[in-house]
Amino acid sequence: MIVSMKRFATKAEIDSVCERIRDFGYKIHAIEGEERVVIGVVGVGDVTACLESLEAMDCVEKAMRISAPYKFVSKEFRTGKTVIKIGSDVDIGGDDLVVMAGPCSVESEKQIMESAYAVAKSGAKVLRGGAFKPRTSPYDFQGMAEEGLKLLAKAREATGLAIVTEIMSDGEVDLVAEYTDIMQVGARNMQNFALLKSLGRCGRPVMLKRGLSSTIKELLMSAEYIVAHGNPNVILCERGIRTFETITRNTCDIVAVPVLNELTHLPIVIDPSHATGKRSLVPPLCRAAVAIGADGLIVEAHPCPERAISDGAQSLHLEEFDRMMRDIAGYVKLWKESRAAMAATV
Ligand code: PEP
Ligand code: MN
Repeated sequence: MIVSMKRFATKAEIDSVCERIRDFGYKIHAIEGEERVVIGVVGVGDVTACLESLEAMDCVEKAMRISAPYKFVSKEFRTGKTVIKIGSDVDIGGDDLVVMAGPCSVESEKQIMESAYAVAKSGAKVLRGGAFKPRTSPYDFQGMAEEGLKLLAKAREATGLAIVTEIMSDGEVDLVAEYTDIMQVGARNMQNFALLKSLGRCGRPVMLKRGLSSTIKELLMSAEYIVAHGNPNVILCERGIRTFETITRNTCDIVAVPVLNELTHLPIVIDPSHATGKRSLVPPLCRAAVAIGADGLIVEAHPCPERAISDGAQSLHLEEFDRMMRDIAGYVKLWKESRAAMAATV
C-alpha cells in the first residue's frame, strides 16, 4: 500500500497518519519529496479497513494498494497456468482446447442422450446441461433437479463425457457433487459468498461465470473466495456483461481473456451462447475466443432448439454444432502451436 499525503502536509499530520498505519499492525517507509510525503506501507493486516481509514483523513491525498487484493489466484502467486484435471483424460488449461457443449436445461432422457452422443462425436469433451435453473421469472421452468442430475450421470456413463452443471445454493453442494465433474456457478450467483465458501470446502472443480454486471476484479475476488477456502480448481468463464447494447443479449468482453491471462493463472473459457443470445453469432464468437487464447468454450446445443424449454434462440442445432467444430479446427491447430511455442519459451 502507498499513501500520498496532501501537498505541504504538516509534520503533525504526517505523524498522525503514521500512527494510524501502525495501529493496523503495518510498518512504515516514508519518502519525503519537495512538496509532498509518500508513505510506503508494508506488512500483513486488514488492507481494506486501513485504506478506508486513511482516505477519511483530510491530510491524505490518496491511499492505494500496490499488490493485488486477490492473492492465491494472481500471477504473483503462480506464474504458469493452473491445469485442472477433469476425470482421467480432460485437462482444462493444458495443451488442448476443451469444448463443453449441450442443452441449456436437461429436459428429458431422450433429449440429453441425443445431445450427449452428438456433441461427443463432434469432439466435445464435457456435456453441459442445467438441472437447477436460475430463471428470471419464478413461473418459468426451474429444472428437473435431482432427476436431471441422474440423467446427466447416465449420459456420462454412456458416452464417457465429463459433466458440468449448475449449483445454485450451498445447501445443494453435496447433492450436485455426487453427480457432476464440474460445479458451475452461474452469473447470478457469482457473489453468493456462502456458496463460494462451500465450493471451496468441497474440492470439486468449479466453473465460475462472470456476473451480469461484475468487473474482472470482482470475478477474481470471487475466485479467491473458492481458492482461499481450500479449492484451487477454479475455471473462469466470460459469458457477456450488461451494457447499453441491446442487439445482443449481453456484450462479450472478449478482451477479458488476455486481461485475465495477464492477471491470473486460472484457465478461462468463453460462453458465446449467453454472451450473444443468438445462434448465428455463436460460431464467429467461438473463432474469436480461440484466436484470443481462451482455454475452452461452453456452447449451448440442442436436438431441436425450436422446442427447447430454455434458451432455444441461442442454441445451435446439433448439426450446426458439428459444423462449428469443423469450422474452428484450423484455429485450434494454430492455438496448439502457439501454446507449444509459449511453453518452450518459459
Ligand atoms: C447457463 O449456463 O445455462 C446459465 C444460466 O448461464 P449464466 O449464468 O451465464 O446466465
Ligand atoms: Mn442457458
